[in-house]
Parts: sequence; C-alpha cells; structure tokens
Amino acid sequence: MEQIKPFVLPFKEVTEQTIKKLFPKVKKLKTPSLENIEFREISYLGWLDKGSNKKFLIVEHNGKLVGIIGDYTPSNKKGICALCNRTEEIGMFTSAVKGATQDAYIKRGNYICQDSQKCNHNLISLDKLYDFVNLIKA
Ligand SMILES: [Zn+2]
Repeated sequence: MEQIKPFVLPFKEVTEQTIKKLFPKVKKLKTPSLENIEFREISYLGWLDKGSNKKFLIVEHNGKLVGIIGDYTPSNKKGICALCNRTEEIGMFTSAVKGATQDAYIKRGNYICQDSQKCNHNLISLDKLYDFVNLIKA
C-alpha cells in the first residue's frame, strides 16, 4: 500500500527558467538536474554549487516561490538541521538578512542538511522551514 504523506504539499513545478528568474543576480547559475526530482514529494528545492560553495534554496512561501542563496560550509560532524530538526550531516548556511535600516544587512547562519533530498524526506512539519524563510525574507 502506498504510504500516506499528509504533510507534503505539492511543490510547484520548477523549470530552469523559473530558477533563473529567482536568482537574477547570479552569473553562471548552475541549476540542478530537474528531471530526477519528484516535485510532488518535496517541500523545498535545495542544491549546492560546489564551485562557489553557495547553496541555493527554493521554498514556496505565501503562495509564491522564494529563492534564497547562502554561503555553505559543510561541517565534519553531525548536528541538528534547522529545517528538518533531525540529526544529520550538516553545514553552516550563511545568508544576508535585511537589518533595521534599508541598506543594512546582517549575516545569519543556520545549520542545515548537506543532502537536501534527505532533508525533504525528514520533514514532518513545515514550521521550521517557514520560520527559516520568515527570518531571512522578513
Ligand atoms: Zn534537514
């Protein structure tokens, strides 16, 4: 019998064009291979550009797709992921967050899974994922 996945929301189908639109400032954007992704089974799309050590995340937030980019430094020990709340192979994801004034940015770091696909499978609630997006996109 097919296992029921009540918390999984259908993620909008993302194309290469969508990704480019979400990260307009990124030159030489490397998109993940989308043909292997089951969009019905993911709550966010995440991939690492090993060349620049940037991690890209696409999350659906308030009915819109949001692109988040951050520097990513893999950690050599396991820890708790800020998105799925499970003990996994993690890394520090650092992104610029808008500060109190318009031009002020503060750097904010969170440990998140190295393997975004596994992270998606671990997600049983989207609360932490949305908290994370709210923090960055506020
Ligand atoms: Zn995770």
